Amino acid sequence: MKQYDFVIVGAGLFGAVFACEMKKIGKKCLVIDKRKHKGGNVYCEEIDDINVHKYGAHIFHTNDKKIWDYVNSFVQFNRYTNSPLANYKGKLYNLPFNMNTFYQLWGVKTPEEAKRKIREQVAASFENEPKNLEQQALSLVGEDIYNILIKGYTEKQWGRKAEDLPAFIIKRLPVRFTFDNNYFDDKYQGIPIGGYNKLIDGLLQGIEVRLEVDYFEDRPHWASIAERIVFTGKIDQFFEYKFGILEYRSLHFETERLEVENYQGNAVVNYTEAEVPYTRIIEHKHFEFGRQPNTVITKEYPCEWTPGIEPYYPINDEKNSNMFKQYQQLADKEANIIFGGRLAEYRYYDMHQVIGSALKKVETIKAIIL
Ligand code: FAD
Repeated sequence: MKQYDFVIVGAGLFGAVFACEMKKIGKKCLVIDKRKHKGGNVYCEEIDDINVHKYGAHIFHTNDKKIWDYVNSFVQFNRYTNSPLANYKGKLYNLPFNMNTFYQLWGVKTPEEAKRKIREQVAASFENEPKNLEQQALSLVGEDIYNILIKGYTEKQWGRKAEDLPAFIIKRLPVRFTFDNNYFDDKYQGIPIGGYNKLIDGLLQGIEVRLEVDYFEDRPHWASIAERIVFTGKIDQFFEYKFGILEYRSLHFETERLEVENYQGNAVVNYTEAEVPYTRIIEHKHFEFGRQPNTVITKEYPCEWTPGIEPYYPINDEKNSNMFKQYQQLADKEANIIFGGRLAEYRYYDMHQVIGSALKKVETIKAIIL
């Protein structure tokens, strides 16, 4: 018998949920992470008593009551509702596209007037078969919304002209004919009171965690002390890039502490014009209705990903998807390694989804080991 039932590589949400559930059934887990902290990308750094979302703004939302009850069993969530603003050339617009936005754009006051305006705009720019993202967006919402609220932001996000981006990136653009600025349609949303570290601490309570430990520095050691490995790092790295490097889009964050009480009056303000290099400014205190005398803001700059910098968004185009499938076939043959989470599965997961996926994996493994 080995020392641990599971060595879990990665103290992010996937690893933490997996460890927590295994502990409940008496399994011994060791969690390792190469970072200096637990939590993966949901980690919050405290600055001036404000929880700063270190790897980008994180707003929890779900339609699944079980997942909502699950996270609330570790930490209570507040009533934060995501209602971002867009700043285009100094003018503010509400998001998502709703009656407030249409009033700000065109002065229309009723849903009928707004629908007519959108129909006119779409008809004026209609393409039979949208061949790229620009044509796709124009065919869905017309010129004004596209030019003011979509074009610049999307081009910054992807680092490419909208004409050069594939149409499939935008499948639909939800428009809402009510005065409702709530970004998400989900039944439940909020931020953990006291920040995401509380959620992670709750999940990992009583579980051995070693930080600043890179799995790849001594793979045979981990295999020698654990019955099974749970791997939540990069799948291409796991297989020594045998089929090539999976590509990502990355982000660069610039965080400033400001000696003002309230900088922008909202947690999230998107900058939708191409001339401003960042896509959004986050003012962290507003996630928790903070009353601190100072504030902390973060400017978010999308950037090219190169090996060595943080991978954020997988580029799920044909080339990368095919490469991932090859890695997945190898992963399926690994009897004692469990792959999970955003990097091992090469997919974008929201928090509720990665928790759901970890819980499902736990059930599969329980069926094998119990
Ligand atoms: P991670 O959190 O990345 O954890 C993986 C861990 O593994 C990391 O800590 C890493 O250091 C560690 N690791 C990797 N390789 C090794 C190794 N070799 N050795 C040791 N440790 C290793 N979701 C929402 O629901 N709402 C949001 O508003 C939201 N906003 C987001 C904003 C941004 C900018 C991004 C990028 C994501 C956002 N998400 C959001 C998604 C959310 O971050 C993910 O769902 C979640 O973090 C995934 O957890 P994970 O455990 O799969 O991965």
